[in-house]
Amino acid sequence: MERRSRLLGFAALVAACGLVAAAIFAWRHRNTAQGGPFLDPPTRGDRVLIVAPHIDDEAIAAAGYAAASLRRGAEVSVVYVTSGDCNRTSAEIMDFTLRPGARDYLAEGKLRIQEAIAAMAVLGVPRGHLYFLGYPDRGIRPMLENPGTVIRSPGTGRIAVPYEEAVSPGAEYRLDNLEKDLRTVLDKTRPTIVLFPVLFDAHPDHSATGRLTLRLLRRTLFGLRRLGYLVHARHFPSPFRKAPRLPLLPPDRFAGLHWLLFPMAPADEAAKLKVLRAYRSQRRDPYLFVLMDAFIRRNELFLDVK
Ligand SMILES: [Zn+2]
Repeated sequence: MERRSRLLGFAALVAACGLVAAAIFAWRHRNTAQGGPFLDPPTRGDRVLIVAPHIDDEAIAAAGYAAASLRRGAEVSVVYVTSGDCNRTSAEIMDFTLRPGARDYLAEGKLRIQEAIAAMAVLGVPRGHLYFLGYPDRGIRPMLENPGTVIRSPGTGRIAVPYEEAVSPGAEYRLDNLEKDLRTVLDKTRPTIVLFPVLFDAHPDHSATGRLTLRLLRRTLFGLRRLGYLVHARHFPSPFRKAPRLPLLPPDRFAGLHWLLFPMAPADEAAKLKVLRAYRSQRRDPYLFVLMDAFIRRNELFLDVK
C-alpha cells in the first residue's frame, strides 16, 4: 500500500513537472504562438534611418527590414556612429599581428568604411545615404558621460575624427560634436522611422548610442516612429547559432516589453544573407561570425519605443 502511494506520488510529481515545463515553453514562445504582434514594412514615402553604433549593426539587426523598405519604394539611410576601429580580433587577423597598434586600428576603420559602402550597395542603399561619423569605437559611453571632455580613442589613439569620408573630418571627440553631426544627419534625412539600439543592450557603445539618439529625437522631432533593436545580451539570440527556421525572440528578462516581430520574406532573408557575407573582415572573428548568422531567423525583432 505504502509502495503504491509512493508510486502515485511520484507520478503526480512527474505530471506536475510536465505541466510546468509545458507552461514555460508556451510562455517563451507566446509571441509566435499568438502570431505577433507584427511590424508592417514601410511604404513609399517613408524615410527610414538606421542608427548603427558600429559598421555591421545595421545589417545584423535590420537588413531584412531595410530590404523590404527598399522593395516597397521607401528610402533607407544609415548613420554609423563609429567605424568599429577597436575590434582587437579583426585588427590582429587583418594585420597578421598579435599586438595591433594604433595604425592597425586606423587601417581597420578605413577598411570597414569601404566594406559598409560595398555591403549597402548590395542591399541597394546608395553611397549618398550613408553617413560615417567616425567617433571612437568603445568611446561613445565615455563621451556621453563626460560632456565637454575630449576622449582619446582606445584603438587608434586619435582625439579627432581621422576619416576623410566622415561627416565632419577633424572634429574633436567631444559630445557636442557628435550631437551636432547626428542632428545634421536627422536634418538631411528627415526620417519618418528611426531604428536605434535599445538602452539595455549590453555593449556600452550600443546603449550610449540609444540614449543619445532618443535624447535628440525627443528634442528635435515629433510624430515619427521609433524602433529599438537589440544585438548584445546574455543568451541572445537563443539558440546562439544559425537557425533560420526559428523565430528571433527577446531574452526572457525583457519579454514583458512591447516587442514587434518583422516577418522575413524569402527575398529579404536572401538579401540579409548576402549583406552579412559582404562584411568579410568581421566574419573572420569567430564570435561575430556566429553572432551574424544567429540573426538570420524567421523574423527580425524591434522594440516599439513610445
Ligand atoms: Zn555594435
